Amino acid sequence: MDVINPATAEVVGTVPGTDPAGVDVAIGRAAAAFGPWRAVSPGDRARLLRRFAAAVDAHVEELAALEVRNSGHTVGNARWEAGNVRDVLDYYAGAPERLSGRQIPVPGGLDVTFHEPLGVVGVIVPWNFPMPIAGWGFAPALAAGNTVVLKPAEVTPLTALRLAELALEAGLPEGVFTVIPGKGGVVGQRFVTHPAVRKVCFTGSTEVGKRIMAGCADQVKRVTLELGGKSANIVFADADLERAAAGAPGAVFDNAGQDCCARSRILVQAGVYDRFLELLEPAVRAFRCEDPTLDSAQMGPLISAAQRDSVTSYVDGARVAFRGTAPDGAGWWYPPTVLLAESGQEAHWHEEIFGPVVSVLPFTDEADAIARANDTPYGLSGSLWTRDLGRAVRVARAVETGTLSVNSNSSVRYWTPFGGAKQSGLGRELGPDALAAFTDVKNVFFATDS
Ligand code: NAD
Repeated sequence: MDVINPATAEVVGTVPGTDPAGVDVAIGRAAAAFGPWRAVSPGDRARLLRRFAAAVDAHVEELAALEVRNSGHTVGNARWEAGNVRDVLDYYAGAPERLSGRQIPVPGGLDVTFHEPLGVVGVIVPWNFPMPIAGWGFAPALAAGNTVVLKPAEVTPLTALRLAELALEAGLPEGVFTVIPGKGGVVGQRFVTHPAVRKVCFTGSTEVGKRIMAGCADQVKRVTLELGGKSANIVFADADLERAAAGAPGAVFDNAGQDCCARSRILVQAGVYDRFLELLEPAVRAFRCEDPTLDSAQMGPLISAAQRDSVTSYVDGARVAFRGTAPDGAGWWYPPTVLLAESGQEAHWHEEIFGPVVSVLPFTDEADAIARANDTPYGLSGSLWTRDLGRAVRVARAVETGTLSVNSNSSVRYWTPFGGAKQSGLGRELGPDALAAFTDVKNVFFATDS
């Protein structure tokens, strides 16, 4: 599989795709490593994860440079992404020693519960955030005592492969964390069908997620799904409009809009609609889409020519309000673009574009804002802007989404739960309860009758 730099369209490497026999060998090794790994004492498992985190920390610059070259991410973002893997490993390194069960007195005895690791966990990662999404799966899975096989996306395998090397260097035993590059229909599909893989942790499109969920039903396999989004950014007339408008470009154009949490629909209350657009325009025009190796870059290219074609198809024929700029020449560049929706029936308003395109639509009142925000099969993220605390609480409760920000566009903190409602996903990652998703509760009854 050729690895291509999206900023230059140059081939920067080649990674062999794993064939079906190779996948089974890797899963077999992970299954063999499970017994010894779950037997490592919680304190020692924690120490190994902290050493893994330290190895990542020592290689943040190298990992970031690799991601810039492979994914076209801005170097600032890529540093954050490598740092996020370190932080998530550190956070879950605290978990093995806290994974205790409960004692429940019952008539005639005592029930004791244990959180048992599942076995081999298959983590399937999309191309848009290769490092963090890998870490959100493998760190809690390993902390809970599982072994992990991980499939990076076809086009962005490099950082995951490097993370697996760092895990070995940090002392994780062979077979505990294995990265298997290859095609979704070969490697990912085998995670679904191989009986030794006891859980699939999938992040990607809703379309593929539905197939994974159906496939997992056959073995009643545990599954976590983190899927697509079409999140709303709701701006009420009483909001701090300057702050809302200044933050809106970053909330959708970050990572060139290839972000499941992108606030790609902006709903603005009718009375301040014109003023909001006036404030938004200079912020969009100032958004720096440029060579991602520059510290000043806020946005790089799209991941591929196909992705750019797909993004273009939504903009062709739509009402463009204004746009920013993007470099010419080699690479898959696309400028930040603001579209005006009218009926709310437009494809660009309804479908996940996964590019630097945002649609704006006015609304009348609170009920209208909620109805329009919820008029989507997705429910991943979103923002709302208001100075009215009561309204903030009411609207936050009414918007059908897994993660919401009030007077902010920040979605992800590794110490709070993350995941989608409706067709944006199933289950939650991150936060203090993530280990529950990588264990089964076993209840053992001890009879006390003599
Ligand atoms: P995708 O569904 O095409 O691919 C995701 C992964 O699944 C890749 O590794 C791919 O190789 C693999 N895959 C493909 N077909 C498979 C199959 N039949 N069986 C098993 N695995 C298979 O998604 P993508 O285009 O890589 O990523 C973009 C999508 O991911 C967007 O919809 C985005 O919203 C979503 N996403 C969601 C989150 C979240 O946390 N909710 C985060 C990032 C991305």
